[in-house]
Amino acid sequence: MTWLALILSLLMSLPAWAEDPARLDLGGSALVTTGRGWGGPQPLELRLSLTKPVPYRTFLVDGPPRLIVDLKGADLGLAHPQDMFGADNAPAIRWGAYRQGWSRVVVELPGPYRIDRAGQAARAALSQITVALAPVAAEDFAPRPSATAALRDLPEPAETPDAPADEAFTVVLDPGHGGFDPGALAEGESEANLVLVFSLELRAALQARGINVVMTREDDSFVALERRMTMARQAGGDLFISLHADALPEGQAAGASVYVWNPSADGRATEQLTLRHERDDLMAGMDFSGHDDALAGVLMDFARTDTQPRSESFARWMTSRMSLLGIVMHERPVQRATYSVLKSPDMPSALLELGFISDHDDRANLLNPQWRERMVRAVAEAIVGWARDESARAAMLRR
Ligand SMILES: [Zn+2]
Repeated sequence: MTWLALILSLLMSLPAWAEDPARLDLGGSALVTTGRGWGGPQPLELRLSLTKPVPYRTFLVDGPPRLIVDLKGADLGLAHPQDMFGADNAPAIRWGAYRQGWSRVVVELPGPYRIDRAGQAARAALSQITVALAPVAAEDFAPRPSATAALRDLPEPAETPDAPADEAFTVVLDPGHGGFDPGALAEGESEANLVLVFSLELRAALQARGINVVMTREDDSFVALERRMTMARQAGGDLFISLHADALPEGQAAGASVYVWNPSADGRATEQLTLRHERDDLMAGMDFSGHDDALAGVLMDFARTDTQPRSESFARWMTSRMSLLGIVMHERPVQRATYSVLKSPDMPSALLELGFISDHDDRANLLNPQWRERMVRAVAEAIVGWARDESARAAMLRR
């Protein structure tokens, strides 16, 4: 199941427009060039195939020149715009739900155009909206003042998030320690084993909710810290959760807690990171290629500016779900640390101390399947709730 399907099935009552929305037929949709090339931009035609006719509107905006097509009562589903035939004819195509009952298609144009004609016609069992665009001289480009101004007569934004996610949601679970590193030990129990047991149960619960799960280890083997982060990045994780149950002298620490990166240590860590030979690995997917180390450091800070509040938001989701489900928490449930597994600049990350193996009650909890079931539920619900927030946030940024 995908992220969107997951969110819809778990958290939302069916929105009114979902009764019988028109659906996009990606195979019947295309962005094609229709004229002979003479060196400049070519005439373009956008064809959107839908399972039934819908009210629509289309207009141009500037900065950069874009074609906007708004569709009422259409479900664009989970199709990727870049998979549409001819998508390469435009610098970029984006689409998604953006207000309750409305979807928007945005085509970035390779230059100034005018809308030559637009219409909707039945084609076999499908309805096709066609927007033909002709290139014009820059002085003849006549966009709407802004996309926002063009939207004033549309309904208010939906209160519930209804934007599709582009990809399945992936959580990376990182059971701490393992192999020759048993972690903390108490009364014949090892942290490495207890967190692995919990992580495997959590994986099953997340998979049952349609979430992709990647584990940095699935058995009692040693995995280096850098390797754990590399695995998370290679998996394209949307969220990284490290699981521990460390020890402190009896009486000093009890209850669950969540750690996020300490932003005040950011500068130093960034410096260290950029000096490391794993630099390329850490930045994979961040498009820093060709930049020097100093600029890469700045860009990593910039990336973390976005990531840090998302990690903190997840930590709050965690503590609120634990609290709701009656999980005993540490007196400071959210804490900050410079644990290296939390330092990914581009992936929201948290370290969950399930409890302290050195504490009698915590240890009993970790060994108790009923307690683990409750804790698994708290974590799973926090992930789903946070993912819903993230989806709403992503939809807002797309506008
Ligand atoms: Zn640990």
